[in-house]
Amino acid sequence: MPPLGRAKRAQSEGDPVEKFDVVVVGAGPAGSTTARFAAEAGLSVLLIDSRKEIGWPVQCGELMAKTEEMTRIFPLVENQGELFDVPGEFVSRPIDIIKMVSPSMKEYDIPFSCFSTERRYFDRYQADLAAKAGATVMSDTKMTRLEDSHRVFTTRGDFEGSVIVGADGPFSAVRRSIGVKGPELLYPAMSTTMDGSFSDEVYMYFGNVAPGGYGWIIPKKGGANVGLGADPSLARGVGRYAKEFISRTADKFSTKPKQLVAGGWVPMSGPIGGTAYGNVVLVGDAAGQVMATNGGGIQISMICGRIAGRTIAAHLKKGTELQSYDSEWRRVVGKDLATARKMMRYASISFSRDWLMSAIFRVAGVKGLAKVIKCKSVFTRADWT
Ligand SMILES: Cc1cc2nc3c(=O)[nH]c(=O)nc-3n(C[C@H](O)[C@H](O)[C@H](O)COP(=O)(O)OP(=O)(O)OC[C@H]3O[C@@H](n4cnc5c(N)ncnc54)[C@H](O)[C@@H]3O)c2cc1C
Repeated sequence: MPPLGRAKRAQSEGDPVEKFDVVVVGAGPAGSTTARFAAEAGLSVLLIDSRKEIGWPVQCGELMAKTEEMTRIFPLVENQGELFDVPGEFVSRPIDIIKMVSPSMKEYDIPFSCFSTERRYFDRYQADLAAKAGATVMSDTKMTRLEDSHRVFTTRGDFEGSVIVGADGPFSAVRRSIGVKGPELLYPAMSTTMDGSFSDEVYMYFGNVAPGGYGWIIPKKGGANVGLGADPSLARGVGRYAKEFISRTADKFSTKPKQLVAGGWVPMSGPIGGTAYGNVVLVGDAAGQVMATNGGGIQISMICGRIAGRTIAAHLKKGTELQSYDSEWRRVVGKDLATARKMMRYASISFSRDWLMSAIFRVAGVKGLAKVIKCKSVFTRADWT
């Protein structure tokens, strides 16, 4: 049984490696949540991130569903308030409606309880929660290599973990180190923020403005997060689409982007086949845990991070199979993530045909579109009321 407790320095003189029960690579929502719950369970945890400032720069639309909305979408996930009831300072603007705009510019108002956040501070807050629970948090520390699935080489020394967590985003170096294939489909996405007087609704624009994806305007306190993600096989040079959408939005609201447009990649092909291999666990974007119909991954990664942290603790303390992390997150969110992926596949027939997409919007109507955005199937009528 590996040692438990706070950081254990190696006993032997010749081995300067610092040892932990768990080394978590990546302090985004997935890694910080995993670290928090593993540390709360009494494990010694090291959480590292290559960024100088955790959470910055922001590469996100910064939209999150409220706890009650998440609970309606994922009813099998218990006590979501523990994850998502954040202090008011992390709510930039509460929102009740998502306006989905078809290529023919018809608006469909989807009731959706959500809020925009400030990811710069939200991510920092999640890492702080991990630190408060007892995890050692190191920013500006990049994993350069993983050896024997235990030893993590970084730009600030080497560390050993009984369990290693890859929470290092869609291109996960941890995942690549153990030879596991990543998500098949990654959408490039770009966003910025701008000041201005934006209404209380989220706008999502579909069609050739963002082939296979959508452009968004997400209201924030005193402004908005504006961005776009698209299917790279349909939208050559997604940056061009994003820049055009951003500059048109800025013109419309007589404003301009406050910061450089920041980009990233969103896994859109659903979760990868396996997420626990030997003593290595993959969480968040590294595991493709994103809702394919809306590109949201913050909260799913936190749900899966909590399961990972607790399962790792049960594994090291009681010998529970680490593999049960994989089966547990699939039990509580796997079906909905798979449905979202399926819905995207069906929708793809209309991706290059604005007229067809507008027709599908008309047929689906508010109820159908609401189901799709909430990872439900439009083909089961039972819960259409
Ligand atoms: C433009 C854009 C807009 C988005 N909008 C939304 C949205 O509005 N709502 C939503 O829910 N989701 C959104 N997403 C998706 C969401 O951002 C991700 O799903 C979410 O951040 C996943 O969390 P994570 O912790 O798995 O990964 P990340 O948040 O990417 O965190 C991974 C961390 O690992 C670190 N890292 C990487 N490699 C190493 C290494 N070798 N060593 C050490 N550290 C490393 C990185 O610095 C990073 O901090 C958006 C994504 C993009 C790109």
